[in-house]
Amino acid sequence: MTHEENTMEKIVSLAKRRGFVFPGSEIYGGLAGTFDYGPLGVLLKNNIKNLWWRHFAESRDDVYGIDAAILMHPKVWEASGHTASFTDPLVECKICHMRFRADHEDVLNEHEKVHGTKSNDGLWTDPRVFNLLVESHLGAVEGEKSSVYLRGEITQGVHVNFKNILDSMHPKLPFGIAQIGKAFRNEITPGNFLFRLREFEQMELQYYVRPDETAAHELFDYWKSASMEWYRALGFSETHLRFRQHDKDEMAHYAKDAWDIEYDSSFGGWKEMFGVHHRGDWDLSRHSEFSKEDLSYYDETTKERFTPWVIETSGGLDRTFLFLLMDAYTEDELGGEKRVFLKFAPRVAPIRAAVFPLLRNKPELVAKARGMYDILKKEYAEGRIGKVLWDDNGNIGKRYRRQDEIGTPSCITIDFETLENDTVTLRDRDSGEQTRVAAAELPSLLQQ
Ligand code: ATP
Repeated sequence: MTHEENTMEKIVSLAKRRGFVFPGSEIYGGLAGTFDYGPLGVLLKNNIKNLWWRHFAESRDDVYGIDAAILMHPKVWEASGHTASFTDPLVECKICHMRFRADHEDVLNEHEKVHGTKSNDGLWTDPRVFNLLVESHLGAVEGEKSSVYLRGEITQGVHVNFKNILDSMHPKLPFGIAQIGKAFRNEITPGNFLFRLREFEQMELQYYVRPDETAAHELFDYWKSASMEWYRALGFSETHLRFRQHDKDEMAHYAKDAWDIEYDSSFGGWKEMFGVHHRGDWDLSRHSEFSKEDLSYYDETTKERFTPWVIETSGGLDRTFLFLLMDAYTEDELGGEKRVFLKFAPRVAPIRAAVFPLLRNKPELVAKARGMYDILKKEYAEGRIGKVLWDDNGNIGKRYRRQDEIGTPSCITIDFETLENDTVTLRDRDSGEQTRVAAAELPSLLQQ
């Protein structure tokens, strides 16, 4: 299925209406490139993060997790090349003075339509180099503050800790360091909701390998497939994901290979969501050079000392969130009525199940339902099932619609029959089918 053109508008509106995502600083008119995650957004985001962390870090013996500071020594960004070349080409519209990325042709074309002129008629200024790093200042005395950057990528926080991990954990190559955290970029044209933000979150693994072409490429291919497998397991439809290899002129000069996982979006088709990069020894050798610390690795078995190469997997959390919403957004007809629902896989759905007493004014039903809700809440608190929610507002049909709209896979209704034989109605979001199941089976059913 392809997306309709207005899918994005519908998602933005649903996300706000139902507490997933709000525009940043909205009561002050907003701040471009920032969004705030609401209660359901936090649940969805945490589910994605936790799945990533477990898959790429905690379930592995060869990966170590870290959480580095956002503020780093300014030399880090010199070493990494960001102060010199973390830039985008900027052009300005001579008529309305709006600024755009010179390499975003589709956006430029759209803008040209507004003014009815072509760029060769002189609509645009010559491209200028624009650095994306966000600068700030630290220190107590005005005038003596020192400049720092909010990190433009989380990667460097890992590489500057390479030696600390060697000295504290004594890993053997190949091994990786994983991190999830915020990054900041002064994007020229933030937009497309969560796609291009100025403050966003990344999930990255830097995997250090021996400097050997064949072995490194095997591991590169391994991480490429592992990444795609992970995305598929989030529930994306097969046809909406693809790999794309970077052309030579798209890659950084030190990169040996680079592939993106792209999503087939409703705003201009295939868009980058995740990157797998073969970075050679660029990071460690540059940090060695600039910090004067030896960041080489000594191999005990071969008695060799060398600078490892890095294979990086870098994913945008906000883009994954956006594309999951886009992929899950479904309109259909159920029982003769139109409905909107989010077809989230149970493992990512913000709410795993909702519990309803059939009638809110029958104390015996409410008490029974509360008892079950408490049992399921305990299952959630102890990490065995996803989050559960209580709802006794309005009739059952309305409650189903509300849960459908936020993507709750299962609804559980406690009715008069429950009082007699401890069975409940379990309703499936996608088919709308209702089955009678023993209440005692719920925890295991919701685990599956
Ligand atoms: P683009 O070409 O879209 O600007 P990039 O190639 O600069 O992205 P990387 O530096 O490789 O992106 O960052 C890794 C991941 O971080 C991207 O795949 C994306 O998911 C995410 N990301 C990068 N920039 C942004 C942004 N401005 N807003 C949200 N996510 C971002």
